[in-house]
Amino acid sequence: MTIRHDRDALIIVDQQLDFQPGGALAVPEGDVIVEGINRIAGLFTEVVLTQDHHPPGHVSFASSYAHRAPFTAVTLDELRGGGVELSESAAFSLDDLRAYLEEARGNQQMLWPDHCVIGGDGESLDPRLDVSRATHIARKGYRPHADSYSAFRENDGITTGLAECLMAKGIERVFVVGLAGDYCVLYTATDAADSGLEVIYLEDLTRFVGSPAGSRERAMEELAELGITIGTSGDLPVGSGRR
Ligand SMILES: [Zn+2]
Repeated sequence: MTIRHDRDALIIVDQQLDFQPGGALAVPEGDVIVEGINRIAGLFTEVVLTQDHHPPGHVSFASSYAHRAPFTAVTLDELRGGGVELSESAAFSLDDLRAYLEEARGNQQMLWPDHCVIGGDGESLDPRLDVSRATHIARKGYRPHADSYSAFRENDGITTGLAECLMAKGIERVFVVGLAGDYCVLYTATDAADSGLEVIYLEDLTRFVGSPAGSRERAMEELAELGITIGTSGDLPVGSGRR
């Protein structure tokens, strides 16, 4: 597979400390892919880094709700039935939540431990990541009442402008890697395809949350259904040196 410098971009998703082993929302083996990502980054002229970037009291934090545990979901139906109560730390109202869930994928929000809090250590990019090739840093999920898995569209459908930015530069194909393969890398890939970009999902350079059970398998099915190419870094001319 040949990399076309004026047409291809690499998108490195959320390679941040909170998603590494020991972090607040650790992805198993999230650290072992850094070396491989560094190895291929030198092949690309356009390298996008994304960062989960949440204010305290964010809608995706279980701690923003009363009686809610991480790795469960809050749904629009529950909210309409009066079954959702916010905690004192919530930085959004129930009206904000209702408006968000009406637009959100599946009319629900998965709840997570507090992670990637703006200004916190866990939000930092992994210091082992070679950021010297980065041409664009896209931060996402910074509105208190809206989460964003994808680098292209927040979960309520609001664009981040990344597709327009890449296309304005002549990019036609994106390679996606990083964390996590069943959430942010998945939705970055599917939204890139939906934006009209050709997408290659490099399966060996991602790792998975694996919650709820079967999320990895469902991610692979969704990619296949959309005709997204699932490849590996071994398909790339790694070792040809930096430009
Ligand atoms: Zn997040």
